[in-house]
Amino acid sequence: MPSTLPSTLTTTAPIASPGTVVILGTGGTIAGTSATAGDNVGYTAAQRTVADLLAAVPALAALPIEAEQVAQLDSKDMDNATWQRLAQRVAQHLARADVVGIVITHGTDTLEETAWLLQRVLAPAKPVVLVAAMRPATALAADGPQNLLDAVAVARTPGARGVVAVLAGRVHAAAAVRKGHTYRTDAFDSGDAGPLGVVEEGVLRRFSDWPVGTPLGLDRLAADTSGWPWVEIVTSHAGARGDGVRALVAAGVQGLVVAATGNGTLHQALAAALDEAAAAGIPVWRSTRCAAGVLVGHDVGPAAAMSPWQARVELLLHLLQACRSAV
Ligand code: ASP
Repeated sequence: MPSTLPSTLTTTAPIASPGTVVILGTGGTIAGTSATAGDNVGYTAAQRTVADLLAAVPALAALPIEAEQVAQLDSKDMDNATWQRLAQRVAQHLARADVVGIVITHGTDTLEETAWLLQRVLAPAKPVVLVAAMRPATALAADGPQNLLDAVAVARTPGARGVVAVLAGRVHAAAAVRKGHTYRTDAFDSGDAGPLGVVEEGVLRRFSDWPVGTPLGLDRLAADTSGWPWVEIVTSHAGARGDGVRALVAAGVQGLVVAATGNGTLHQALAAALDEAAAAGIPVWRSTRCAAGVLVGHDVGPAAAMSPWQARVELLLHLLQACRSAV
């Protein structure tokens, strides 16, 4: 057998946890519709309610499931207020003894950012499963219904915990999940880590451990979202200049993540401006613009193993703590 094949850590028997799964709707392509059936790109996201999505999967009808609409947006437009409300609703439902897990219907564009935020804030001891689709609900072969069925199967898996994403039959941990393709239905991957598992006919075959961690706590998100720190991402590239960073600093940016080239290298013009920002007291965290791999070496910093957008969430959470300490 080739050594690259992951060994199966657990094949969960097709016995599901009894108890309720709560499905929280936030919009996305999974809830999108197009005027012409079969148009997979000319559609409007976030048109169908989470109750509609549930009704499209007859196999879920007999299960103890509750549906709640938390938001209805295209996830490219995800915002702090929606994140705050979503985290609160997830925490409230997870605290219920009768709830075994949560499923969140979401857009694919910022799914990994929401996943990381929820994992860091809640690090839940029950499963929180983000699910999405690359094709709208009106597609000839919509991927949303199967993904939703698979997501509920994961949410009902005994022993499941942590924030994961389920798409195209694969389960990805919050720390590793990345949208890696613009169009294909299997658009997500977990980089070097590989998927946490696969769902086959409602059964999870798991290759690695569930996400665990120490929750930062919901209080971290308690502040009025209009006052949440402003954190931006800048990118190093050929011909980079420092003017953009200086403009951000002048406009009041409170944190910067730089998507560096390769193993953390920066164009000298950008580096000079970032040094000025850091000297002015603005935290500057470095990650890589490479799709996979981590920063390797000395002084790599807190975002070494994060994507730039994950690092932006992490720096936001870090600054929110500083805000709370200052009160
Ligand atoms: N723009 C959509 C969204 O993120 C894309 C998708 O869901 O696939 O909501």
